[in-house]
Amino acid sequence: MSFVSGLKCRECGTPYPAEALYVCDVCFGPLEVAYDLAAAKASLSRSSIESGPPSMWRYGALLPDPGDQPVDLGAGWTPLRRARRLGEALGVRELWLKDDTRNPTGSFKDRVVSVALSSARRLGFSTAAAASTGNLATSVAAHAAAIGWPSVILIPADLEKSKIAMTAIFGGTVLGVEGTYDDVNRLCVELVAEHPEWAFANVNLRPYYAEGSKTLAFEIAEQLGWRTPAQIVVPLASGSQLTKIAKGFREFIDLSLVEGTEPVYFGAQAAGCSPIARAFASGANVVRPERPNTIARSLAIGNPADGPFVLDELRATGGDCGSVPDDETLECIELLARTEGIFAETAGGVTIASLRQLIGRGAIDPERSIVAIISGHGLKTLDAVSATATFTRVITPSLTAAEAAIASTALVGAS
Ligand SMILES: *Cc1c(COP(=O)(O)O)cnc(C)c1O
Ligand SMILES: [Zn+2]
Repeated sequence: MSFVSGLKCRECGTPYPAEALYVCDVCFGPLEVAYDLAAAKASLSRSSIESGPPSMWRYGALLPDPGDQPVDLGAGWTPLRRARRLGEALGVRELWLKDDTRNPTGSFKDRVVSVALSSARRLGFSTAAAASTGNLATSVAAHAAAIGWPSVILIPADLEKSKIAMTAIFGGTVLGVEGTYDDVNRLCVELVAEHPEWAFANVNLRPYYAEGSKTLAFEIAEQLGWRTPAQIVVPLASGSQLTKIAKGFREFIDLSLVEGTEPVYFGAQAAGCSPIARAFASGANVVRPERPNTIARSLAIGNPADGPFVLDELRATGGDCGSVPDDETLECIELLARTEGIFAETAGGVTIASLRQLIGRGAIDPERSIVAIISGHGLKTLDAVSATATFTRVITPSLTAAEAAIASTALVGAS
């Protein structure tokens, strides 16, 4: 059972029922889901959670009510891996990677979509929709297909080919919009007004959608043996993942389920789209929109909805925000692959490059535990690496040619 008590405004705190609402009538602020944590405390324990399913729905008590059954392709409960070789390369003592490449459609978006569409079905919707930088599109299309719903997906027309194919294959309506993600998002806000019967995962279902990211915090805490990490690095697009990871850790701390205090939060952005990093560095409370220009398309949101809330989390815990050029992103996709055997998309490269940058400038303490979120699979952004990740040598099918080629290349083994 779920301990949701309703919705409440993130700006002024006005309470609302857990219905299809997302904007505060009083102040136009965004709504979020609220829980009766006192009641949850009386019935929720480590062992009741441990006896749940090996998926994110083991934390169903602290998620929106999914109705009879969640819309579930198996999102979550991904590995938290101790990264000794990468940790050594970066000079840190205790590094962990949350490997969210291993979700059903290859990104962390499966967590938020599973919650959004479960809530949408409970609330009586029957069409799924989304404004997306790519990964949300794929996940909404897949989950909609699995429950027989039509889907309407809007993405920038110049997105990576692999992300377009991975979305279109599920048979929904996929509209390529000639513009940036921020243009796509503006258009979707207008579409919601015309089609209030469509469940836009990240617009009119946003309060429910966002809750899915809390499961990253819940899983990390449980997988560390019911303790919080000292520091965590999170890639930022709209900023929702980071703010809800923070909400998740706070709920677990309030429920006395974990040892330790809140982690210090660190954001990761590409230099070609770093409105939050810039606002943080300049001490501003407002985030000035910018026009994205980066290979990290999944993070290319120039006007991030959760930007000011992210700034609050970073400042309240003594965190910081990385901002890394695309060449460092590519270098760190390789570094991660070659040290840990994980192939990440560009967002993962941004996260590792930001981790390295933040260690370099003394913002991250190398002696204390660190978790980095690897949020999407490398097959989604193959084009980004295909120029360098290719044959060592092409040879004729003869033993002489093979031996000559092998002799002329330095064999790189495990070190
Ligand atoms: C969407 C996305 C993010 C960040 O999401 P927000 O919650 O909007 O900040 C990070 N990584 C990947 C791969 C994504 O697709
Ligand atoms: Zn309000």
